[in-house]
Amino acid sequence: MIYCDYNATAPLRPEARDAVSIALELGANPSSVHSVGRKARSVVEKARTQIASVIGARGEDIVFTSGGTEANALAINGALALIENPIILTTDLEHPAVKANIEASGVPVRRIAVEGNGSLSLSDLSDQLNDMGDHTPFLILMLANNETGVIQPVADAARVVRDAGGFTHCDAVQALGKLNVNAALLGVDYMAFSSHKLGGPQGAGALWFRVGAPLKPQQLGGGQERSLRSGTENVPGIAGFGAAVSACMSAEDAKRVSAIRDKFESLLSDVPGIRFFGREADRLPGTSNFALEGFKGETQVMAMDLAGIAVSSGSACSSGKVKTSDVLTAMGVEETLANSAIRVSFGWASELKDAEAAAEAWLKAARRAVPEAFMEKA
Ligand code: PLP
Repeated sequence: MIYCDYNATAPLRPEARDAVSIALELGANPSSVHSVGRKARSVVEKARTQIASVIGARGEDIVFTSGGTEANALAINGALALIENPIILTTDLEHPAVKANIEASGVPVRRIAVEGNGSLSLSDLSDQLNDMGDHTPFLILMLANNETGVIQPVADAARVVRDAGGFTHCDAVQALGKLNVNAALLGVDYMAFSSHKLGGPQGAGALWFRVGAPLKPQQLGGGQERSLRSGTENVPGIAGFGAAVSACMSAEDAKRVSAIRDKFESLLSDVPGIRFFGREADRLPGTSNFALEGFKGETQVMAMDLAGIAVSSGSACSSGKVKTSDVLTAMGVEETLANSAIRVSFGWASELKDAEAAAEAWLKAARRAVPEAFMEKA
């Protein structure tokens, strides 16, 4: 199998595998005061320091969670519980882990316009901020999109929100380990991360929050994680997360992965009518999202799977369900074309030959499924 679905879950990095197995062997509770318990505690604290150093933050401002979904839920619900008279500003690009919490909150919501290239409109954000009445704006925005890889202007957006007296939560789940994610440079109040998107194990994640940012615990119990997230820590998961973050992409690696993605796209670029989404914007290094009218996304995923290539249609959370992508719809893509989109995502272990094999398999499948697309126009 050639794995081209890193945005769903990245394969486990060897550094993470080693850290997980060492932590599994420990088999102790990090809250226990005996020596093995203290060892487990030091594993958790080492991972906290590893993550903090990559994002340029303090370890004590990081709360471990069960993944990106919980980190987003904690930030959104934990902030909304304490912000006075909040109003949410967000986009139609957000992941269901964010959207569902926004919808359930009952707080008024304003949508920020999205440009055709998949980026939020900063001018619309500024206009909307001028009309907040006595509400406190709470911007909820992702750093990199899971479907298109488009990188949002988070630092600029957070600056205007801060100037308007508001707060910003950034879903950085797809960005950490692939881009430079620096808490101070982004100027946000909260950031959500997930281990399995960058080569750590599934079931671990973290929330970073700025000192003084309002945050009410959502899960009560034994008071772990400074009472912000009770529950015995997932020591092996956290250990693997920390090791994966430490091993994450350097600028060199990112360039290498970009070149693989670019090679893949260049091999398909001549197909008449093919559309690459978000290609005009800054994107994650490994992500390609494209469509060919008439070649349904689900059919493509199955054809690629039969050819031994793992890819995704739409986001991982919605694969299996045939639903038009909200992200592509927000970018103004017509429904039939959006339903013909697939996402191919490369990462840390990808090689140039994976891009070549994936492109070859896709071209073969497309020629078979939609031969008319390849016919010379008279
Ligand atoms: N946010 C984004 C942008 C994602 O891509 C995902 C995963 O698909 C999540 C949040 C949820 O993360 P997790 O799978 O760790 O719960």
